[in-house]
Amino acid sequence: MIGITSYGAYIPRLRLDRMAIFQAMGWFAPAIMMVAQGERSMCNWDEDAITMAVAASRDCLKGMDKKSLDALYLSSTTLPFADRQNAGIVSAALNLRDDFVTADFTSSQKAATTALITAFESVLSGEKKNILVTASDRRETKTAYFYEMWFGDGAAALMVGDTDVIAEYKGSYSLSADFVDHYRGADKKYDYVWEERWTRDAGYGTFIPQAVKGLFDKLGITMNDVDKLVFPCFFKGDHVKIARGLGAGPDKLEDNMHEVCGETGAAHSFMMFIAALEQAKPGDRILMCGFGQGANALYFEVTENINRLSKRNGVAGSLANKKSIANYHKWLKFRDLIKTEMGIRAEAPTQTATTVLWRKNKMILALVGGKCRECGTPQFPKSDICVNPGCGAFYSQDDYEFADVPAKVKTFTGDMLAVSVDPPAIYGMVQFEGGGRLVADFTDCELDDIKVGLPVNMEFKCKGVDKERGFVNYFWKAVPEPGAAAAMDKIRFDDRVAIVTGAGAGLGRVYALELAQRGAKVVINDLGGARDGSGEGSASPADQVVAEIKKLGGEAVANYDNVATPQGGENIVKAALDAFGRVDILINNAGILRDKSFLKMEPENWHAVMDVHLNGGYNVTRPATAVMKENGYGRIVMTTSAAGLYGNFGQTNYSAAKMALVGLMNTLKLEGKKYDIKVNTIAPIAASRLTEDVMPPDLFDKSKPEFVSPMVLYLCSERCKETGAIFNSGMGYFNRAAVLTGPSTQLGDPENPPTPEQIHENWQKINSLAGAREMEDANTAILALIMPPDEKAAKAPESPDAVCSVQAIFDGMAQSFKADAAAGLDVVFQFNISGEGGGSWYCVIKDGRCGIDAGAHEKPACTIKMAAGDFLAMMGGKLPAMQAFTSGKLKIEGDVMKSQLLEKLFKIG
Ligand code: NAD
Repeated sequence: MIGITSYGAYIPRLRLDRMAIFQAMGWFAPAIMMVAQGERSMCNWDEDAITMAVAASRDCLKGMDKKSLDALYLSSTTLPFADRQNAGIVSAALNLRDDFVTADFTSSQKAATTALITAFESVLSGEKKNILVTASDRRETKTAYFYEMWFGDGAAALMVGDTDVIAEYKGSYSLSADFVDHYRGADKKYDYVWEERWTRDAGYGTFIPQAVKGLFDKLGITMNDVDKLVFPCFFKGDHVKIARGLGAGPDKLEDNMHEVCGETGAAHSFMMFIAALEQAKPGDRILMCGFGQGANALYFEVTENINRLSKRNGVAGSLANKKSIANYHKWLKFRDLIKTEMGIRAEAPTQTATTVLWRKNKMILALVGGKCRECGTPQFPKSDICVNPGCGAFYSQDDYEFADVPAKVKTFTGDMLAVSVDPPAIYGMVQFEGGGRLVADFTDCELDDIKVGLPVNMEFKCKGVDKERGFVNYFWKAVPEPGAAAAMDKIRFDDRVAIVTGAGAGLGRVYALELAQRGAKVVINDLGGARDGSGEGSASPADQVVAEIKKLGGEAVANYDNVATPQGGENIVKAALDAFGRVDILINNAGILRDKSFLKMEPENWHAVMDVHLNGGYNVTRPATAVMKENGYGRIVMTTSAAGLYGNFGQTNYSAAKMALVGLMNTLKLEGKKYDIKVNTIAPIAASRLTEDVMPPDLFDKSKPEFVSPMVLYLCSERCKETGAIFNSGMGYFNRAAVLTGPSTQLGDPENPPTPEQIHENWQKINSLAGAREMEDANTAILALIMPPDEKAAKAPESPDAVCSVQAIFDGMAQSFKADAAAGLDVVFQFNISGEGGGSWYCVIKDGRCGIDAGAHEKPACTIKMAAGDFLAMMGGKLPAMQAFTSGKLKIEGDVMKSQLLEKLFKIG
């Protein structure tokens, strides 16, 4: 069987919003509004027909053996060289064999389908087996013109062969005519276009139907034998009309892609054909036409192999990777339609020594470096001596292709002074996986996208154009992998091991699935008992969740132990250690219910609930904490409930157990602090078997566990610096719950205890929560009770003199922030305050806003270290900052200059 064996496409990432063209030029050419829908694809300044053809061909070659190719045909009407074989450049960039045929097919929009028919004939004759046919166009138009709107840039490639055919070639029919709807003189940049009506009626409207009917007659088929009709025609209405005339309704007609990218010239038949293949099922029959000086029609039947094709960008992937541009001037500059001053540096000589180009052909065009036979070290460029200092072998390098090797950003800079069509010029060091580095330009990105460690792909691009001599220089540049920058910001749990108790259903199952999807290895514990904890238990809930995780490509093991026994807790932690060697995350989630009003609450129901919730929490947390302490890292989430925090009729057992877990957290957070073990508590609201009969049905439907899990995952992450906090979460709503303590009131005196009457007289004051605050631990609470702030401070808390604690200063810091003094600032201050009431806080100032948080920031600009008393004096305006600094009371690490901003940014004193 002969046919298409693979496909690939490339549509530049940049898309010019057609309304931007109209907004800029509509005053001059109002009629262009008629076609100003959607976006047209637009080459970056360093892309042309060759670079796009290389990109589409690489996409097409995914999963294929390059050596099996017997020929490469390149079709385009915008080839950069009139006499230097353009297909030869594409072949060199792809590092293909040199003992094969390369050919340019050009001078007509139907060049690609002509090349394709030629390839089929060649394979059918038995002369060749595999031919890559690639098509690419970057057509120029004058500004404010319909064609500027209609056209787009892009490339598409098809592989013709006889093995693993995805669309069988059934035959073709061709028409050739010297029909000139438009032409481009040999020395002209722009097309000269004849009247549109004539192009529509005498051109598309005549040749496409003739070619289709010619093919029908030749193969003895009708439109009933066609599932998808593919032909380019940028006149949207006529596209539909011509298809209808041929008996193909809108469901059979492949969209002409006007809204999403525009017409990509010689590549467009392939582009639409690939879009059709991406949607096709085995057995679908596709008829593709090319138009230009006549027409070609080709007929295919899709095979089962379409489902086995390896992953690629194709048209869908290219369309998804986009950056929309509304800056029409950028378009004008990139297309060289306006003259800008490029500065003296741009006048550096640009002549290319073709001798050097030939000698270094593989290095420059194919990004081929060397790999040492002795030590296996890859390097770029290849050299006579191995770069590995421990090896240093001579003449030991074999060719090593870097183009497809995964790479990451090692260093980078944005240079506003270097000559660039799209400043800043971004360049830096790229580190290849397995070894090898290269200083490369970065393209198809903005400076903000680049981060150290960001995965990049190497892409073949224009390095520069020698306009005087008409020579384009090509080299490889680094392009951020689509979506990689966003993925780097994602909370991940790679190499982390999590235990989720009660993960066989409800909330626990969702936590486990989502942890696994983000890279965690998970122990799925579930006893599999009844809702009230009765019954023998069953392995199936845990097993099912493990199977689900594995199906999604994650790692998990099942455990069926009962959290209610100390041995059960030990076994659960052992399961994690046996399977994965560590424990980083524990979610105490297992739960049962035995609701009864208090007087009917028999001891067995009381104890059963205590055993699972409270003792279960203890049984698993204790051995887990031992492992976490060893590793110096841990994240523990307890599960409480609104019933425990606030009370709920009929749930005294459950409320007591759930609130007791808050007590467990309160102390464990203190004991775990030194080992970076953070303990927090979730109070979920979610639809599960525990709530199906207590929640109103409409609430139940809205309360998917997926709305709770984001909070739990955050609390389990490295990013979470919080400890000892409780969060209510449900239906996408989140708030913090806390035990607050009101200001203390002293009655009586050391010799005379107060009387109950005095309590009564002062009830309003004692009972008041005005000015209440959270207490870090029991000692703080006792101190706050017996050492209340003085009356003056209590009465005028807004006065800085009244500030009585470091915590209060940070609590109020955001209010004293002077946003207008922070314009354009992006800075993080870390405060490490020692002594009583001290602690760590950090302050992030960005986009004119100020955020204060307790804990240590990963990358502060400067760190301020002070004793609590000095800090209070300084913030109260009693100790000038400079005096504090010169006297050594204020120590600053990092960027000392940044610390001077503090007085500007905050109202001090
Ligand atoms: P669920 O019944 O769907 O899940 C609880 C899981 O725990 C079950 O799969 C069960 O088999 C397992 N389990 C019970 N006892 C066990 C034991 N001794 N050992 C091991 N596994 C055991 O309930 P859910 O709603 O997903 O509840 C999860 C947690 O959230 C519970 O602690 C519950 O009290 C708490 N909670 C839930 C809500 C809510 O709205 N769903 C509200 C507040 C608190």
